Amino acid sequence: MNQRSRSTTAAEAPRAVTPFDDLGVAVSNHEPLAHHSWLGIGGDAAYFCEPVDVEALGRVVARCRERAIPLRVIGGGSNVLVPSTGYPGMVVRLSAPAFCGIDVQRPTIHAGAGAKLVHVVSAAVQAGLSGIEMLVDIPGTVGGALVGNAGGHGGDLGERVGDVTVMLPDGSLDIRDRSRLAFESRWSNLDDCVIIGCRLDLDEEDAAALTKRMQKQWIVGRSAQPVGTRTVAMMFKDPLGGTAEALVVQSGARDLRVGDAAIYQAHANYVVAGPHCGSDDVRTLVETVRSRVREKLGVELTPQIEVW
Ligand SMILES: Cc1cc2nc3c(=O)[nH]c(=O)nc-3n(C[C@H](O)[C@H](O)[C@H](O)COP(=O)(O)OP(=O)(O)OC[C@H]3O[C@@H](n4cnc5c(N)ncnc54)[C@H](O)[C@@H]3O)c2cc1C
Repeated sequence: MNQRSRSTTAAEAPRAVTPFDDLGVAVSNHEPLAHHSWLGIGGDAAYFCEPVDVEALGRVVARCRERAIPLRVIGGGSNVLVPSTGYPGMVVRLSAPAFCGIDVQRPTIHAGAGAKLVHVVSAAVQAGLSGIEMLVDIPGTVGGALVGNAGGHGGDLGERVGDVTVMLPDGSLDIRDRSRLAFESRWSNLDDCVIIGCRLDLDEEDAAALTKRMQKQWIVGRSAQPVGTRTVAMMFKDPLGGTAEALVVQSGARDLRVGDAAIYQAHANYVVAGPHCGSDDVRTLVETVRSRVREKLGVELTPQIEVW
């Protein structure tokens, strides 16, 4: 057959060339980030990959720096709002087994950044190690929880972090001990690196008593979260000595909606994205609620959800 006249099917179409093609890492173009975020909305990442190990990740990270390509990591996607225009750089997800390990060495646990926080909490409780059981109802990964110092009124992850292994922009690894780490309410100084994993220093305790405490927290925590939908996000950080939920209710903002974004009626600190919701709906709703609380109550709420 004449090669020139042969029609090209979609499957045969040449793959787009990317700046990562020589690295031996599978990189996709135009990955829909809606698939990777709890809200289920947002545009595409220009480049996306799930490296198989630290060496592969290092090659991608270093290439991003060489070519000035912006880089972000997505964990469980429970705290990000991706704009409808997407992300114009590389998004990395640490889903490979090399990043999801949980290694119990009493009384410490080494956890990979890609491990689900709930799995780490369960492993600790099963081993009779206390100190993180109150985090059992928080969605997402260890990496996301370290960046935002996940927690609540019972304590936060940062209190138990012994050290954190990070990857620097040149692809090299660094272990940051406590003297180089800072954790505050829903904030840490781990915003300049790719987190690979951490060591948690825990206390020995009776596993049966701990299990009961964890189960209680699970029931109480989950009863306060939206049910029947996963397209939700937490809007604001709790201010010192109070809750964002109470302020939203007091300001009369609970019934506000923008497009197909609404406030979850049973817990006013969550935004729920309906099937026709766009990123701008969520963003505008969060800003509108924030302005309402400021005008009515004189309190400046800090957004919890991170807009990319
Ligand atoms: C129903 C619901 C309940 C929630 N309850 C709580 C709560 O009680 N307490 C609380 O603190 N939060 C809560 N949150 C918010 C959210 O779950 C936490 O912030 C969580 O820790 C985010 O983890 P993630 O893996 O989903 O992070 P993502 O949303 O994927 O990412 C969050 C940030 O972390 C960065 N990141 C993630 N992994 C890495 C990594 N390996 N290296 C570098 N950067 C990384 C991302 O780039 C992004 O900046 C809740 C959210 C929902 C939807």
